[in-house]
Amino acid sequence: MEEKLEAAWEVNVRKTVPYVPGEQPKQENVIKLNTNENPYPPSPEVAEALRKLTAGELRKYPDPAASKLNQALADYHHVPVSRIFTGVGSDDVLAMAFMTFFHSGRKILFPDITYSFYPVWANLMEIPFETKPLDAKFQIRTEDYLQQNGRIGGIVFPNPNAPTGILKSREEILRILEGNPDIVVIVDEAYIDFAEEGSSVLDLTDQYENLLVTRTFSKSRSLAGLRIGYAVGSEKLMGYLNQIKYSYNSYTMNTPSIVLGTASVRDEAYFRETVEKIRSTRSWFTDEIRKIGFSVPESSANFVFAKPDWMTARELFQNAREAGIFFRYFDQPRIGDYLRITIGTREEMERVVDFIKNLKA
Ligand SMILES: *Cc1c(COP(=O)(O)O)cnc(C)c1O
Repeated sequence: MEEKLEAAWEVNVRKTVPYVPGEQPKQENVIKLNTNENPYPPSPEVAEALRKLTAGELRKYPDPAASKLNQALADYHHVPVSRIFTGVGSDDVLAMAFMTFFHSGRKILFPDITYSFYPVWANLMEIPFETKPLDAKFQIRTEDYLQQNGRIGGIVFPNPNAPTGILKSREEILRILEGNPDIVVIVDEAYIDFAEEGSSVLDLTDQYENLLVTRTFSKSRSLAGLRIGYAVGSEKLMGYLNQIKYSYNSYTMNTPSIVLGTASVRDEAYFRETVEKIRSTRSWFTDEIRKIGFSVPESSANFVFAKPDWMTARELFQNAREAGIFFRYFDQPRIGDYLRITIGTREEMERVVDFIKNLKA
């Protein structure tokens, strides 16, 4: 093969390997279960707030502190507003947190099987990292994150983990916090609303100044299209995060995001109702596909991680795709036998079960 020559200026360009988001199919009438979106519309309060927005409101810059939205979140979590930080999806918040807190030059730790954006940010920001293998049951091994005294620059993991959906207990996370008072520990709670109540460690940000918890509106609040994420942590952590934010882009939150995000947070009843529907569909769907012949670890998220015992995951992924059903398949070591299937509406999941039964028959 002929080697492609780089132009002189290209030598000076930063090259990096980007994250690959799940496919957004163009055709209509597909069952889209590949990016963990919520199948239900956002709260009717959001729709109402959207109707009331006027083009005139877009003339001025938004409030750089996103005070209304931050206050709604502060009320919701019973913390002072000074301990909330919002951004353009939790991806933005996490990227900013990596930039702010993982600057020691020492390696950060995260699991080998986890949110695939972590290594991308680490590479982009030239943060050294080491991955710690999950155990044979896909659990994060607490011991791997202890006794690191002074050797590491930070820890980050999602809880529940992605793409496994497996929850780590508060007790185990407490052990990690107790063992690591000298670094920032980030717990990415993108899916925590779908877990058993009392699983979050958000309240521990009161006691652990070095704990940052991130959340998103994309999954449990049905607002992936708006791009809102946030972090809760100590005032000190927020101070440092804001220093970076105001050195980079002061207006991360646009006016519609602030207004509509606030409306979403204020409607707790609708939020609880839709989350509960997804949890109950998840439990029904897990039972159904286990009966058909899948290994499925217990999920605490709005997706299941499922290994068909009678066909390769890749073949099933392809067959489903041709039938207009989109799952997520990761062609990676250790998880190449699994599919990540987002929980849609009960009707969608019934159609998926029928499709799989027919395929197997
Ligand atoms: C979806 C997801 C995010 C990002 O969410 P956005 O708020 O949409 O940027 C972060 N972490 C994990 C583990 C996720 O699955």
